[in-house]
Amino acid sequence: MQLVGVAVKFVNQTMSIYQDFGLEPIINASGAVTRLGGSPMPAAVLDAFRDAAAEWVPLEQMQAAASRKIAHHTGTEAGLVAAGAAAALTLGTAAILAGHDLRRIESLPHCDGFPNQFLIAREQRSGYDHAIRAAGARFVEVGFNEIVAGAGGRRTEPWEYEAAVTEQTAGIVYVFAPDSKPDLAAVVEVARRHNLPVLVDAAGELPPRSNLKDIAATGADLVAFSGGKSIRGPQSTGILCGRKALISSAAIQMLDMDDHFELWDPPANLIDRSQLKGIPRHGIGRGSKVSKESIVALLTALELFASGAYDADLPRYHSNLTTIQDALADAKADCRILTPAHKEMWPLLEIRPDCSALGRSALEICRSLRTGSPPVYVGHGRLHAGALIINPTCIHDESISRLAERLKAELC
Ligand SMILES: *Cc1c(COP(=O)(O)O)cnc(C)c1O
Repeated sequence: MQLVGVAVKFVNQTMSIYQDFGLEPIINASGAVTRLGGSPMPAAVLDAFRDAAAEWVPLEQMQAAASRKIAHHTGTEAGLVAAGAAAALTLGTAAILAGHDLRRIESLPHCDGFPNQFLIAREQRSGYDHAIRAAGARFVEVGFNEIVAGAGGRRTEPWEYEAAVTEQTAGIVYVFAPDSKPDLAAVVEVARRHNLPVLVDAAGELPPRSNLKDIAATGADLVAFSGGKSIRGPQSTGILCGRKALISSAAIQMLDMDDHFELWDPPANLIDRSQLKGIPRHGIGRGSKVSKESIVALLTALELFASGAYDADLPRYHSNLTTIQDALADAKADCRILTPAHKEMWPLLEIRPDCSALGRSALEICRSLRTGSPPVYVGHGRLHAGALIINPTCIHDESISRLAERLKAELC
């Protein structure tokens, strides 16, 4: 059955819909990054999107159905489809800050008169923390970044979170990665002692599939995942999952609330109406709404991802990279296939150009690949070490020989 992988039929470059807009489709050797359009949606996901667009359902009922499915796959009480993991972080923060307090919901992102500080390890800060500050949170950094500074050998430690807790602390933010320190479980333990919720950014931490459940199983209150990375849902989706009361608050602050309290009968598994004395107006999350078709498509993708269906693509990725490596046998570059750290992860091809023989830096080669035709975007995460990376997950089989040709032209 053609339902997994890049099963979306490859459009001939000469007939691309993007040409109607004056654009030339690229070869995306960078993987599912937002700036290049995210992950390949399987045919079943696109079919689900189209089918869902043909009829109407109340969005809160759709989100309640999503909540059940997400809860099932993540082992949490409830879930919500958000407009990306970053939006999920904004909503999660808004939920922690305001709960079901109508005054607080109305006032966000201003937090006059109630706690709005979030503890975060200094070494976990990134551009994505804008998403958390956008809801009104203020960061209180703990720990140091001594290893990067070359000034020490220790990472952030649990006691540093504990020492920073004050009356103004609203929660703790944790950015999950395989080597994050301290362990999430230790941070959750500190949070429990002080009755503070923990919001986890796990946007890109799938696979392994087990992370769908394992991260929340630490006791973390809310976890955010991207829908448009390895899950292969629409690029503009994400998942927020965790404690029911917080998901309820997040839903209220995102959904279209222009209804009458007397008529409003939201599904109880998503929204706890009994907590409210009236129906709030549109909340801070209204700008990151998600359409019914995006929700259905994301849930279809989540089902595929969780079933392990995408593993079927791994041998194809491997043989495509081998084809490129063989084509570059005579290139002035060292090529090797990097074995993934986990069996559900894909291999990468690392290309280290011999810059003195070529008379150009890796950065210049990268730029030249982008500007040729078809434009080629390689992974640039290791340019600082003089390496180009080929990520196979967003390259159609039909493009492999063109990619190899373009690389050869640059590297021979
Ligand atoms: C990708 C990413 C995000 C943003 O996810 P979107 O789904 O694109 O909004 C947030 N945090 C981290 C660590 C990420 O890698």
